[in-house]
Amino acid sequence: MSARIIDGKTISADLRGKVTDAVHRLRRDRGIVPGLAVVLVGHNPASKVYVRNKTKAVAEAGLSAFDQDLPEDVSEVELLDLIARLNGDPQVNGILVQLPLPPQINPDKVIAEIDPDKDVDGFHPLNAGRLASGLPGLVPCTPLGCVRLAKTVHHSLAGLEAVVIGRSNIVGKPLAQLLLAENATVTIAHSKTADLPAVCARADLLIAAMGRPEMVRGQWIKPGATVIDVGVNRVVGEHGKAHIVGDVAYAEAKTIAGAITPVPGGVGPMTIACLLLNTLAAACIQNGLPAPKI
Ligand code: NDP
Repeated sequence: MSARIIDGKTISADLRGKVTDAVHRLRRDRGIVPGLAVVLVGHNPASKVYVRNKTKAVAEAGLSAFDQDLPEDVSEVELLDLIARLNGDPQVNGILVQLPLPPQINPDKVIAEIDPDKDVDGFHPLNAGRLASGLPGLVPCTPLGCVRLAKTVHHSLAGLEAVVIGRSNIVGKPLAQLLLAENATVTIAHSKTADLPAVCARADLLIAAMGRPEMVRGQWIKPGATVIDVGVNRVVGEHGKAHIVGDVAYAEAKTIAGAITPVPGGVGPMTIACLLLNTLAAACIQNGLPAPKI
């Protein structure tokens, strides 16, 4: 058996198209242009690539970009001042601070300073609490993208055995909350989980988010399961050439799974599309309008 490939590029392009249409209608009917401020500190090469891709996607969707580039040695106070200014700027509906931050800055303090209604990354403790309590709020983009991908395979996630490997605040935990809200039966695995292969083997929906190159082997997967691979790992091949692999041994897994996301081209593009969706939703809510159902 060869698994159906869950094509994140095509699915995210469809979502981005719908967001672009909704942004166009918002501008035409209400004169509102959603604005996103992406704050980049320093010159981490990976962060620069992520920010460049986000900025391009923002422009293509018709949103306004208010990018902020700060030097590597910026102080925590200066960054917090900038966040306060962005919080007070009515043209800025979403604020995203690209992580990681340099060591002199406490990321928790910075995230807590962002107005929760502009927190399009969904990392603010208030939004984490809203998600855990089943209240409406902004939800982290990568978990949102994972659930949307899973729903291209399963009309409903209700009653499915879902296993999430990883319990970070930005992927594993919010993802588990979202799956619970979809009525899946959720297990969260982590580095102290005893017998991870046995836990994975019971999953109808297996989501790997631990940052360990190709750790999930084909024989861990329940035949026919849906596998979503969040991992992004840079590995150097035999000829010294670097390439990106996920957390799942893709070639093995695709002979056993029912459906699987590739890396790259799976979860990654969905994360950016969900960021655009969150910025649109934030703009609507800040203007007293319902968030669009897309
Ligand atoms: P973190 O390092 O913050 O968390 C990793 C999690 O995986 C931890 O909970 C850790 O457990 C668990 N883990 C680590 N090793 C093992 C192991 N051997 N067995 C079981 N569990 C293990 O990573 P993130 O959540 O930030 O990211 C995870 C991956 O997703 C990374 O590859 C990252 O690059 C990628 N990513 C991709 C995105 C995208 O858009 N495609 C966006 C965000 C992340 P413990 O808590 O016990 O330490």
